[in-house]
Amino acid sequence: MRYLLLALLVLYVVWRWRSAPAAGSKATRAATPAAPEVIDMVVCAHCGVHLPVTQALAVQARYFCSRAHQDAAGA
Ligand SMILES: [Zn+2]
Repeated sequence: MRYLLLALLVLYVVWRWRSAPAAGSKATRAATPAAPEVIDMVVCAHCGVHLPVTQALAVQARYFCSRAHQDAAGA
């Protein structure tokens, strides 16, 4: 009878040990936001490269990727 209780205890510990990481990873995935941040993209009026609007130079309703391309376009 003592060995049966010991075997049940070992099985319980193994079961808890194996199920604990899975429950932890589920909680981590649930806490992660699903929707990525959306950033508007614009096209450089000189070379046509796409870049985030936050990094573009806006001049007279046109966007440029760099000061050199702004100067090259004469804006
Ligand atoms: Zn450019």
